[in-house]
Amino acid sequence: MASHEEQFKKLIAHTKEYGFIFPSSEIYDGLAAVYDYAQYGVELKRNIRDYWWKSMVQMHENIVGLDSAVFMHPTIWKASGHVDAFNDPMIDNKDSKKRYRADVLIEDQIAKWEEKIEKEVAKAAKRFGDAFDREQFVSTNPRVLEYRQKIETTSHRMNQDLTDNNFDDLKKLIEELEIVCPISGSRNWTDIRQFNLMFATKIGSVDNEASTVYLRPETAQGIFVNFLNVQKTGRMKVPFGIAQTGKAFRNEIVARQFIFRMREFEQMEMQFFVAPGEELKWFEYWKQERMKWHRSLGIPAGKYRFHDHEKLAHYANAATDIEYEFLFGFKELEGIHSRTDFDLSRHQEFSGKKIQYFDPDRNESYTPYVVETSIGLDRMCLAVLSHAFHEETLEDGSERVVMKFPPFLAPYKAAILPLVKKDGMPEKAQEILNLLRGDFMCQYEEKDTIGKRYRRQDAIGTPYCITVDTQTLEDNTVTVRERDTMQQTRMPIAELPAFIANGLKPQTV
Ligand code: ATP
Repeated sequence: MASHEEQFKKLIAHTKEYGFIFPSSEIYDGLAAVYDYAQYGVELKRNIRDYWWKSMVQMHENIVGLDSAVFMHPTIWKASGHVDAFNDPMIDNKDSKKRYRADVLIEDQIAKWEEKIEKEVAKAAKRFGDAFDREQFVSTNPRVLEYRQKIETTSHRMNQDLTDNNFDDLKKLIEELEIVCPISGSRNWTDIRQFNLMFATKIGSVDNEASTVYLRPETAQGIFVNFLNVQKTGRMKVPFGIAQTGKAFRNEIVARQFIFRMREFEQMEMQFFVAPGEELKWFEYWKQERMKWHRSLGIPAGKYRFHDHEKLAHYANAATDIEYEFLFGFKELEGIHSRTDFDLSRHQEFSGKKIQYFDPDRNESYTPYVVETSIGLDRMCLAVLSHAFHEETLEDGSERVVMKFPPFLAPYKAAILPLVKKDGMPEKAQEILNLLRGDFMCQYEEKDTIGKRYRRQDAIGTPYCITVDTQTLEDNTVTVRERDTMQQTRMPIAELPAFIANGLKPQTV
């Protein structure tokens, strides 16, 4: 079995070789942490976005959509706190000249202890066999307890330092933990400094302070500043939500791990406006709802976990992350935050416009509270790609790489393949293509042997290969090969649309 790291490298290579994701500006040697979605990646991404939109907007009568501009009035980012506080603590290694996020260095150390705990557990599980009780082991084994204690004190101290902006102590922590630079191996660190993550640019032809605009670092603010517009024109009654998908930009200090952390990425966010006092109930509701959504992608429960925040942003009164077990460990995929009335109140203060809602049931006006769900579309693509990627050795000893996407997310749903390029088979296959392509993304392929064509479709994750053979010309039936089982079933052409449609329903495993 390949290590997770090797597996991750293979996945990245596969996505490039088979047209899912390319490094940006590759012929100019690339641009760090920026990627382009290629012919299959763009379909996968669109399917995930559409499914999110359908689940959030189409399936909720009290959630509507929005598409606000990337550029916004610069005061918005003052009001939101991004100009003053959207910073990451950065630290440089003097020998390698590499820059890191101080908190990420510490989190990586914590992840190493977590790995050590898992190794202890695995060893003990092997030793004790069926009689192994994980809970009992982790709550009594001295080595596990020692690692747990280290994890707890370290993360507590780091969170406190980040809250207090105490960078001297944060640096001391890095030194005490003897964290070395992965490149130079040295502990020769600079002091920690704050780094604002927003990209600034100029608007119009005048170059002065007033013409500075930012590329939005999140889509949420476009929703807040349109709250009244949407509420009034949509005649929305609290509780209601506004959903938006779109690009966001952050000048990340360390951009690595492929499309996990990019400088230009896409978010899918929903802000849910509720009456004051109701927010924690809705926070719990959205926590469960969002986890259900993830599970409906056919990814098992064990790949996800909640990580409730110990360190809350000053405006939040509850926050959790949905973490996914990527090939480099459990990491944040989605954030769910109870943001109180912070955002609307701040925009009221900075704009001087009253932002209030008259609640007919309570017969009073108030500033609604907000529960937010915020997921990175690219991270979701990475989760789906990682889960789908399989290398298999078949019974005849040959190897195949197969992307086992849930069929409804697969870039192409069906490939139509004439067994040979003659005897009227290509014409028949074209007829089938025309029958299906209005409803499903389909590919027609006639080059190479049928075996090679099956492999190619496996590698891009097409769930159904429809083969036209001699019998088709006689009785209008085709074989349908199912990607994961590789089993072939013969069926009348007329049954194909219903058969494929039936296979495209989301399924919780
Ligand atoms: P992290 O701690 O990983 O930097 P964050 O807590 O800053 O993430 P949020 O501000 O809560 O992230 O953004 C919401 C979601 O947007 C995240 O859960 C993540 O899926 C996505 N996201 C944030 N930053 C990036 C990025 N640089 N590249 C890709 N996706 C991102």
